[in-house]
Amino acid sequence: MINRAIELIRKSKKPVIFTGAGMSRESGMRTFRGEDGLWKKYSPEKLSSISGLKADPEAVWNWYRMRLMTAKGVVPHAGYRALTHLQSVKGHLPVITQNVDGLHRLAGQTDVLEIHGSMRTASCMDKCGFSTELTSEIQKNSLPVCPDCGAILRPDIVLFGEALPAEIISRSYELAENCDLLIVIGTSVQVWPAAGIPFAALENRATIIEINPVQTELPHSDNVISIRRKAGEILPLLAGLKEKI
Ligand code: NAD
Ligand code: ZN
Repeated sequence: MINRAIELIRKSKKPVIFTGAGMSRESGMRTFRGEDGLWKKYSPEKLSSISGLKADPEAVWNWYRMRLMTAKGVVPHAGYRALTHLQSVKGHLPVITQNVDGLHRLAGQTDVLEIHGSMRTASCMDKCGFSTELTSEIQKNSLPVCPDCGAILRPDIVLFGEALPAEIISRSYELAENCDLLIVIGTSVQVWPAAGIPFAALENRATIIEINPVQTELPHSDNVISIRRKAGEILPLLAGLKEKI
């Protein structure tokens, strides 16, 4: 199975990567669903929704502060480095990610489509145009405010109840519909409309290589090669950086 995947990657003319929270698990970022997922302990309705932000912005900021603190010392693992290597080998290899942790960029990857935004920046809730990197200064204030207009700042992630950035999502679907190979890594394929991306690729006869230790919503079919291993173990092998696990 692994050899078939290596061969598919080598031959593919228009490959695309699609990642979810499991891609960052081995860097120390926690997933939302699954065994030790964050939603077992925290409420997505309160902490990750637009209504939650409006009702209790301080609670939402405390939650993001906690996640940012976790993300601070986090560095891209061997699987990320393997994807960066694959990008340079293939020449053009767009990365569509549901993650907000910025690790694909930190690993040196280009053409990264962050369909759920990024938690490394914040902007004005009243949309006056102010936007900033999340410095430790901003993180220290329990409720950071916009220096231009005084409104509350918000993390630049897409919250439940909000639409995804239209341009990024439409380019992502376009890439999925036109690729010949979609490498799907560490996603439960449950959060829509992101979850539609692999199905759009399948409908257009692309092959999928899935890397996830656990079975997901993706169908069993000849076009889906599911490798039930961790991203950090398998990607260096698929990228030709390692000969065995
Ligand atoms: P999810 O939590 O629903 O699913 C994660 C998947 O990763 C699971 O299927 C799990 O089996 C798999 N997984 C766990 N460890 C793995 C590993 N080492 N290698 C490969 N796969 C592994 O995550 P999702 O599908 O991305 O959807 C959740 C939403 O949560 C996304 O919208 C995303 O924005 C957000 N989120 C982001 C981060 C982050 O930025 N790091 C973290 C948590 C959640
Ligand atoms: Zn403002």
